[in-house]
Amino acid sequence: MSEKKVRHILALSGGKDSSALAVYMKDKVPEMEYVFCDTGDELQETYDYLDKLEFYLRKKITRINSDRPFSHYLKLYRGVLPDSRTRWCTRMLKIKPYELFVGDDEVVSYVGIRADEPYRTGYISTKPGVRAVYPFRENNIRKADVFRILEESGLGVPAYYEWRSRSGCYFCFFQQRIEWVNLLERHPDLFKKAMEYEKNDPLTGERFTWVEGESLQELSMPHRVAQIKEQHEMRQAQMKQDRSNLSLGKIFESEEDDGEMPCLMCHL
Ligand code: SF4
Repeated sequence: MSEKKVRHILALSGGKDSSALAVYMKDKVPEMEYVFCDTGDELQETYDYLDKLEFYLRKKITRINSDRPFSHYLKLYRGVLPDSRTRWCTRMLKIKPYELFVGDDEVVSYVGIRADEPYRTGYISTKPGVRAVYPFRENNIRKADVFRILEESGLGVPAYYEWRSRSGCYFCFFQQRIEWVNLLERHPDLFKKAMEYEKNDPLTGERFTWVEGESLQELSMPHRVAQIKEQHEMRQAQMKQDRSNLSLGKIFESEEDDGEMPCLMCHL
């Protein structure tokens, strides 16, 4: 009986690191399968970028969809929005569909964690047949290299980097307040949709909001928008000053993800 073939899979998030890894691995593993777990609530910029990447790779990127949409699971979780602690959205909309796709096969899973992220961990897969490999870590590829790889490929970074720092759903709770403001200004329809998911529990008075302590309705008030922009500009100016003596490479390395680590399946 012939031995079962080992599958090689690179899961794309629509973010810069996994995209750069796809570029980096092009032609190195001819049987590589490229996949993207599509929640159905990703930004149009992400879908456009994946199309460009697919063209560059000259290989199909398999879109894996969840059996049910976000709204179905939200009902199941009784209207409690996901947050960085529970992350049920990643589990139900990304991980579960990915594991179904993998099945019980033997898989080498290519993960784009960089050499300058020694602290970074996260879900790869607990399935016994899945073995994760880290080509960027193994080859000392750092953040500045990722930008270079994407630049040299002609792809550049996804267009949403103009106003948002991470890939993922338009309503992702990992967004900073300034990114919510940017969503409001660039995609008012999506901002409105995100707003509609927020609720007050009439029994307990508990508020379910995407941003801690503030509803999107409150965040979108003109005086609040102006305040968030002003605070962001002040932070930017301070960071610029702090970095004036740093080389470009060091600047990239200093821009590490702030706060809690986002999910690998969504933001790599
Ligand atoms: S991108 Fe954000 S909201 Fe979407 S599944 Fe991932 S963690 Fe959840």
